[in-house]
Amino acid sequence: RIVYVNGEYVPEEEAKISVFDRGFLMGDGVYEVSSILDGKLVDNDAHLARLERSLNELNMGWPCTKEELVDIQREVIRRNDVEEGAVYWQITRGAADRDFVFPKDAKPSLVMFTQARKIVDVPAAKTGMSVITVQDIRWHRRDIKTVQLLAPSLAKMEAKAAGADDAWLVEDGYVTEGSSNNAFIITQDGTIVTRKLSNDILHGITRRAVLKIAEQEGLKVEERSFTPDEAYDAAEAFITSASAFVMPVVKIDNRILGNGVPGPIASKLRELYIEMAKAEAK
Ligand code: PLP
Repeated sequence: RIVYVNGEYVPEEEAKISVFDRGFLMGDGVYEVSSILDGKLVDNDAHLARLERSLNELNMGWPCTKEELVDIQREVIRRNDVEEGAVYWQITRGAADRDFVFPKDAKPSLVMFTQARKIVDVPAAKTGMSVITVQDIRWHRRDIKTVQLLAPSLAKMEAKAAGADDAWLVEDGYVTEGSSNNAFIITQDGTIVTRKLSNDILHGITRRAVLKIAEQEGLKVEERSFTPDEAYDAAEAFITSASAFVMPVVKIDNRILGNGVPGPIASKLRELYIEMAKAEAK
């Protein structure tokens, strides 16, 4: 694989970053993941806008212009010949002697790489996935997409150890979101429920697109918090992310939803999202 590191395209074995990089030492960095369909980027402008917001919230500079960044995205996709998968891009505050005070003149680091994988035609879309609920122990600015991913990583490991596919995080009795995705339930009367935007969750790009589709389809949507108990009684559930698009959830804490197979609304939303993503990718 060819990766991009601070101005160079190099084989991944040769890619180097300073041991003093603040991303490495302090988790002082932000990232984005854009999906690739037919070799093109899905909803990339929205990912760029969210990156800009993350950078601003942390008083971090751009390593290059937005246009240059998109050129690099396209170039890593081209060099790796990726048709379907994701491009990961990370900006850190750069390298400086270790200090909690932000360095004045560090140059931000930019790293980018692709991950070729299937997103559309995956078995989980037909079988649905299982989740367990675990305590949300993350910091209080989950709206910023930082590289501090230890807490969600531990949550996912706990889910895997319990035989589940992923974790839904719970704070003060309510589900915030998934370990790396936004969480949705569909009530018995067909209402789509997902937590409203705040600093408690990441403002998912896929979440936004799916809510727009739901609205166009005339489905009822409520942006509000829900408890694990409400989720156990739901007709359907699903998660959204750039890596999974819309993925039906059929089991929550060992309670099976409906017939234990992906429900009609979640399946339809997945289909419509993929259709839109393919049509609008560029
Ligand atoms: N929530 C969290 C904590 C995430 O890490 C992610 C994606 O990585 C999402 C939600 C989904 O966001 P998006 O749809 O923009 O990929």
